[in-house]
Amino acid sequence: MTELAKVPVTALKGVGAALEEKLARVGLENLQDILFHLPLRYQDRTRVIPIGALRPGQDAVIEGVVSGADVVMGKRRSLLVRLQDGSGTLNLRFYHFSQAQKDGLKRGTHLRCYGEARPGASGLEIYHPEYRALNDATPAPVEQTLTPIYPTTEGLTQQRLRQLSQQALARLGPNSLPDWLPAELARDYQLGPLDEAIRYLHRPPPDADLEELAEGRHWAQHRLVFEELLTHQLSLQRLRESLRAQQAPQLPPARKLPQRFLKNLGFAPTGAQQRVGAEIAYDLAQPEPMLRLVQGDVGAGKTVVAALAALQALEAGYQVALMAPTEILAEQHFLNFSKWLEPLGIEVAWLAGKLKGKARSAALEKIADGMPMVVGTHALFQDEVKFKRLALVIIDEQHRFGVQQRLALRQKGVDGRLCPHQLIMTATPIPRTLAMSAYADLDTSILDELPPGRTPVNTVLVADSRRIEVIERVRAACQEGRQAYWVCTLIEESEELTCQAAETTYEELSSALGELRVGLIHGRMKAADKAVVMQAFKEGLLQLLVATTVIEVGVDVPNASLMIIENPERLGLAQLHQLRGRVGRGSAASHCVLLYHPPLSHIGRERLAIMRETCDGFVIAERDLELRGPGEMLGTRQTGLLQFKVADLMRDADLLPAVRDAAQALLARWPQHVSPLLARWLRHGQQYGQV
Ligand code: ADP
Ligand code: MG
Repeated sequence: MTELAKVPVTALKGVGAALEEKLARVGLENLQDILFHLPLRYQDRTRVIPIGALRPGQDAVIEGVVSGADVVMGKRRSLLVRLQDGSGTLNLRFYHFSQAQKDGLKRGTHLRCYGEARPGASGLEIYHPEYRALNDATPAPVEQTLTPIYPTTEGLTQQRLRQLSQQALARLGPNSLPDWLPAELARDYQLGPLDEAIRYLHRPPPDADLEELAEGRHWAQHRLVFEELLTHQLSLQRLRESLRAQQAPQLPPARKLPQRFLKNLGFAPTGAQQRVGAEIAYDLAQPEPMLRLVQGDVGAGKTVVAALAALQALEAGYQVALMAPTEILAEQHFLNFSKWLEPLGIEVAWLAGKLKGKARSAALEKIADGMPMVVGTHALFQDEVKFKRLALVIIDEQHRFGVQQRLALRQKGVDGRLCPHQLIMTATPIPRTLAMSAYADLDTSILDELPPGRTPVNTVLVADSRRIEVIERVRAACQEGRQAYWVCTLIEESEELTCQAAETTYEELSSALGELRVGLIHGRMKAADKAVVMQAFKEGLLQLLVATTVIEVGVDVPNASLMIIENPERLGLAQLHQLRGRVGRGSAASHCVLLYHPPLSHIGRERLAIMRETCDGFVIAERDLELRGPGEMLGTRQTGLLQFKVADLMRDADLLPAVRDAAQALLARWPQHVSPLLARWLRHGQQYGQV
């Protein structure tokens, strides 16, 4: 039999050019794609359920005789059809119906329906059931298997997808769909045969355990989940290999610059900073590109580590680019690096998207000319930015950058030949299991020690009915010479509304706290205005800063010791942790008030309680993962890494260690199986993370 991966969808009955295009849009190009387009869930249409035995919420096939059909005028006009089967009666309700439809539902008509039974005004009702009239002479067979419900897109019906999978299944056999998991691995990890798993999942038998399937615990699912996670792992390891195969500038350990830098710094690096610094220094001295992730909780001092790495490249006469996801953060790095490097005689350039006109072309020219240190936003990724001798790229807060952007950097190396080293820093601690999967292409260093003298932030939950007391608290703190943040959270995904709310809050607090100097900062302000406000807050000219979550990452004002977060229930825990990390940076005892809007849901209360209990980012990340699931936590859109078809990182996290071992075995012993697996599971171009 021909391999199904080689048979185009147009080989199926009923697939013409128009349908071919629709299918291509969801990545279905050949029969293997069709078979790996798996149902999201199932309906049981294999049995007719007596009306008397129906439970509310149950999806079921029922049969009965129409005992009456009336148009009723409730809140909305609807057609109500009474159906009875000897065991009971229920109503079918139609809000949209034609005269012809009404005529077809006359008293005495024998119907078979499918739909969800819901509690109605008088017993159970089914809204807009699928139905057909039965002819008493010829009995209508029920379905022989559970009915699959596929993920779909506009213009592609379930009916159509079922027909296609039916046809593809008819051609399925062990030879038409090669099993790329070697028998030895399948045995070691107790994985069943691929073709049987596929057949089962498209058309489960009537006795299949729907609950087990819904929870993803069935062996057939397990078989595919394993293969999918394995493939994902392989793609990241391939990515890593392809980067490692490049040449990178070898940077000898630096001596002079770090010495002078540390002397001026005013504090000694922590043990963790020294250890991670040494790991990086070693990598940079190698001829292949470093790909290292530094995970360190907020305030752990990642910037110093980044500076030490930069100095190694700078001392060797190369360029360094440092990029951050927001302008505020990039700007702060710019100020820090200018302060640190200029005394050493090293110039620092600035590049952001908002830099326009002459200033921009001047910056571009300087960079092309070999300006040693360049700090900016993702504008640094743009094609027009050409470096002369780029040897190291430092990316802060990596979870906002995609893999594809990291790859784009390859082209920016020395003469486009040497690939720059990459140092990625994140303050979003990722639970170990996930890190293994999400960052399989990176080496990891952990900065697990905070600089001395930090006191944990004391966090309290306060209902917003006590807002006035909280305002008084801000007054008291500022009168003692401390500074405070008042953070307004995102309103319904609308940045505009959120900024407006921040403006309103700013006015309210300015008038309530007339004697305090209050500032406002939000995402819709001009970069220059933001910088002025930030600078004033840093210098202590402003005592209270009303802000949106733009201050979430990196902003560093040690004298700020109080943070109020409005509606914290709207934010993820990782984000709350980031925000809270803006205080507790000095030696004063710091406080964070989570000013929530009651009533909180059960989970909402539990989540905020976690914030009160711990300041450890790793613990928070683990608990957040348990409560919310990984997609949300990592931000699927940003990473582009976690869009699985059958796997669910949360549910299947315990498989990851085995998956990683299997991936290593496959790469070492069956390398020819890797490409077919990638082609099977990943859409074109996604193979190296280019979503
Ligand atoms: P993050 O890891 O969150 O990026 P930063 O690099 O912004 O942390 O550092 C937070 C603060 O701690 C800064 O004010 C920085 O100067 C200070 N800091 C960093 N390392 C040390 C150290 N070893 N001793 C004292 N303070 C330090
Ligand atoms: Mg930082």
